[in-house]
Amino acid sequence: MPSDEKPVYPNGKYTDCDVLHQDSPVTPPPPTGRFPAVRPRRLRSSPLLRAMVRETELRPSDFILPLFVRPGTGVRNEIGSMPGNFQLSPDTLIDEIGRATEVGVRAFMLFGIPPEKDADGRVALRDDGIVQQSLRAVRKAFGQDVYLVTDECFCEYTTHGHCGILCSVHGVQDLDNDATLPLLAEQCVSHAKAGADMVAPSGMLDGMIGTIRTALDAAGHINVPIMSYAAKYASGFYGPFRDAAESPPQFGDRSSYQMDPANTDEAVREVALDVGEGADIVMVKPALSYLDVIRRVKDTFDCPIAAYNVSGEFAMVKAAARNGWIDERRVTLEILTSIKRAGAGIILTYHARQAAEWLKAG
Ligand SMILES: [Zn+2]
Repeated sequence: MPSDEKPVYPNGKYTDCDVLHQDSPVTPPPPTGRFPAVRPRRLRSSPLLRAMVRETELRPSDFILPLFVRPGTGVRNEIGSMPGNFQLSPDTLIDEIGRATEVGVRAFMLFGIPPEKDADGRVALRDDGIVQQSLRAVRKAFGQDVYLVTDECFCEYTTHGHCGILCSVHGVQDLDNDATLPLLAEQCVSHAKAGADMVAPSGMLDGMIGTIRTALDAAGHINVPIMSYAAKYASGFYGPFRDAAESPPQFGDRSSYQMDPANTDEAVREVALDVGEGADIVMVKPALSYLDVIRRVKDTFDCPIAAYNVSGEFAMVKAAARNGWIDERRVTLEILTSIKRAGAGIILTYHARQAAEWLKAG
């Protein structure tokens, strides 16, 4: 299709890879005056006025709280590197969700820790899998009062800790993209059938969004949205998560499928592909070292953006706060505000419940 026939939104934002060749549609406003007639401090002179002119407001409904679930009853294992976060069994998961809803957090992302693993992660596909069981239990307890998102990947379910089936390329083991896609689609359909409101594939596989959309639609789940981990970087900030989900890779790393932290053009290309394949929400992960990527995606695409304030970002704040080096409340709300200000309307954060409590307290 010639470039002048590419779909363009009315506000000038573009829907596909042509964005790579366009200037940013955002231009700064012209200056309106000079000192001493103009004194920006006037608008900072009162807390009431500051509240009136505040441009970015955090709300508990912005947050998705990630939760880790494993088989058993009465399980509540605190994750050492993520204080206040636990591996939970379906019954204690219900208690944890109940506490979060009391302060206004209503959306949750479930990560499963299975009883056993295999090379292909097929335990993830079972109707009685840990995520499927948890979805049914939470739905029974809360009905439609909570919104349940499921992480879609295989690293928690495979013995080798990589995000799908492996293949050998010139004697080196790598993720087999195309062989993993049907399994990923099957996982999503299984979760949707068990009660997931939204699926969130996190493996950074090529073609994953289109494959999942087709499978969900064929199974009748036409209204289950896909939140794509569209720009997920190979980051050192995931360390504590791997303890929490028991999913560290047993060899190598995930650099052949997750993105190089040095790249932003590539993020735009990844997001464009996922939007084109039917992603409803696109995610940037991690958040704090990638605020520029969030902003660039926001300026380029006209779709909701999520950002994942990841485990290492959470752990740094907790560790510094425990040492008395920073004020946890102030720093956390400042970080979350910066993520929203950068352009993410949805924030996945381990601070969700605490932040909602702080916001409620004012
Ligand atoms: Zn994974």
